[in-house]
Amino acid sequence: MPIRMVFDKTLPGLFGQGVSSPVFVCDACGERVENARMGAYVWARGRDAEPGGTDVLIVHKGRERGCHRAVEAALEAEGLQASWEELTHFPMYLARNMVPDTADVRYDVVERPGGSSGARR
Ligand SMILES: [Zn+2]
Repeated sequence: MPIRMVFDKTLPGLFGQGVSSPVFVCDACGERVENARMGAYVWARGRDAEPGGTDVLIVHKGRERGCHRAVEAALEAEGLQASWEELTHFPMYLARNMVPDTADVRYDVVERPGGSSGARR
């Protein structure tokens, strides 16, 4: 699951102009998924129930690029079935799993002094 750090000099940071932040990159074409609404995450159905779970693949969604279908076809070629979910849901599930004892975590983005943003409870 490619997640890369990208420096954006247009964003205000705590120590001046610019912030490095993680972005999703498509496992099929290698390009950044600019808008989560245009992305999905895919995994091998059934393997998620195995000890240790299974890898997640990030893809551009839709037929135009063919990324989603290509990743599903690769899993099928290995004799696996693919499951997928909207990429917009990914951060909430991940945040919940990172802080499992706080089911009431809110996912609001807030402004901090200096212009950085983050989540708070
Ligand atoms: Zn792609």
